[in-house]
Amino acid sequence: MKAVAVKPGKTYSAHLVDIDEPKVAAHEVLVEVEAIGIDGTDREINQGGYGKPPKGDDVLVMGHESYARVLEVGAGVRRFKPGDHVTATVRRPGGCVNCRHGAYDMCLDGDYTERGINGRHGYLTERYVDSEEFFVHVPDSLKDVGMLVEPVSVAVKGVEQAWAIQNRMWWQPHRAGILGAGQIGLFCAFLLRARGLEVHVMSQEDPDSLEAQLVKQVGGQYVDTRQRSITDVGESVGGFDVVFEATGYSPLIFEALKQLHTNGVMCLFSVTDGERKLEINSDIFNNQLVFGNRLVFGSVNSNHGHFERAVTSMEQFSLRWPGLLDSIITQKVHGLDNFDQAVATSKDAAEARRKAKNQIKSVVYMS
Ligand code: BGC
Ligand code: ZN
Repeated sequence: MKAVAVKPGKTYSAHLVDIDEPKVAAHEVLVEVEAIGIDGTDREINQGGYGKPPKGDDVLVMGHESYARVLEVGAGVRRFKPGDHVTATVRRPGGCVNCRHGAYDMCLDGDYTERGINGRHGYLTERYVDSEEFFVHVPDSLKDVGMLVEPVSVAVKGVEQAWAIQNRMWWQPHRAGILGAGQIGLFCAFLLRARGLEVHVMSQEDPDSLEAQLVKQVGGQYVDTRQRSITDVGESVGGFDVVFEATGYSPLIFEALKQLHTNGVMCLFSVTDGERKLEINSDIFNNQLVFGNRLVFGSVNSNHGHFERAVTSMEQFSLRWPGLLDSIITQKVHGLDNFDQAVATSKDAAEARRKAKNQIKSVVYMS
């Protein structure tokens, strides 16, 4: 059967491959893929930034945001039956104690794998199989946006962690700053508006861009940071109780920290390329944290529980803001053969995509 794979380390290597049909064991579920979302991680892998093939293979099948229909279940499977619609988590546990308890998103020793990213083939193929425990039901009400459950789950984890951390005191957050209006920034904005916060999204899109319109649709404020800086926005609104960073540009952390209230918390989501350097006054940085009880933490990946709560949050979004999630999908590519419309196979194509306006999410549909 067909799949789209990359040669990790090579640039723009995405290509069609022929892989073996998966077989179902007793506790496994075989699914037929209906749609796969493509994100920044997939593009970075295709640009040779990271990504690792499974042991003994030299290519990696891409894709980690799936929406699929159950075809067949093994004899020991209890929670799924043929015809159910599902998505699947990304990480597969290693041997550490957290991994063994389902908290593979909090792996202690890095021995996990990730489907479509790190040491395990992904979902950009016709069918795939995995253990029952990694699948999550997607209700019919989300049939057009089921591939978004994975990225929403990443945002859900960050938000839940921020609130869990803030249990360290009596905390009533009022105003949030979100850096970046990619899918993670937008999903954070939706989640925080759903929690009733005042939300300010700061990013480098035009004030009349689709991203800005979506922020406004949920009652948030949008600022084009090419016109007004984070410092300017923070000072004029009176700072933020909580900040989420999802731009990929690490120097912003230090600018945003100055706008974080006393007792505030800042969550970092970006995976950065390791080249940027900044000179900072470490004493001031220290005092900002110490005198203000401030906390900066990182968040990566998500586990089964985050996926389930992402589904619940998405159902709430659909009721409150009909059509909101659908409008995130700005490019629909039909047929695996046309994958190159969604995943660049040349530098020029990647460049054109970077410059394209109002492009948030590409989805590849199997038919
Ligand atoms: C995925 C995460 C993954 C991370 C790093 C993201 O795009 O959504 O599940 O852990 O990349 O590999
Ligand atoms: Zn582990």
